[in-house]
Amino acid sequence: MTDDTNTTGGNAATKNGKVVIVSGPSGAGKTTVMRRVFEKCPLPLRHSVSATTRPPRAGELDGRDYYFLAPEDFDARRKRGEFLECFAVFGRDYWYGTLWSEIRKGFAAGEWVVLEIDVQGALAAMERFPDALSIFIRPGSFAELEKRLRGRGTESEEALERRLERAKHELKLADRYRHQVINDDLDRAVAEICDILTSEREKKR
Ligand code: 5GP
Repeated sequence: MTDDTNTTGGNAATKNGKVVIVSGPSGAGKTTVMRRVFEKCPLPLRHSVSATTRPPRAGELDGRDYYFLAPEDFDARRKRGEFLECFAVFGRDYWYGTLWSEIRKGFAAGEWVVLEIDVQGALAAMERFPDALSIFIRPGSFAELEKRLRGRGTESEEALERRLERAKHELKLADRYRHQVINDDLDRAVAEICDILTSEREKKR
């Protein structure tokens, strides 16, 4: 293992590996966009599987969607320094975090490790990896984001209001990312992200 892959941070890139940070407020369509990017982009991208204390939703698998951890286990790992970053997202009781082991696995395989994380986690990850490629996915407009969130119909009005407040806060921090992509057209947003990634590879050559 090189210095770049140890748990003290360092450069985002090893010879071939790299850290890619992707954020966007919920309702911006980040998950759909990134699923397509993984299918379409001809680069060795690896989705970093985060750990969380939230329970799995229907259809989610442990080790694929998240590592679903008991709060005590999460806390013990946090104290042992196993996380690159971890936070209680949305000010709820649930914790989310990026495990160093995910970064190490990707770097060892020469892959680009893609962290799909919230803004506070992203800012912490950028500090650890200043040359990480960072992309913020924006909704076409705030009204569009609100429409998408309401359309899901899965949440109470109060939870929805909280997400909207959070989204406003996240949008204010968008300029901390190296790139911003507007998801008002899925195909175009996917193509734009693939272009950003591909030109980064060209730069590394
Ligand atoms: P969900 O519970 O809907 O899967 O995710 C809720 C939020 O947690 C999303 O904004 C997602 O980006 C964020 N998230 C997922 N994994 C991580 C992580 O490892 N670290 C941080 N800081 N946020 C995460």
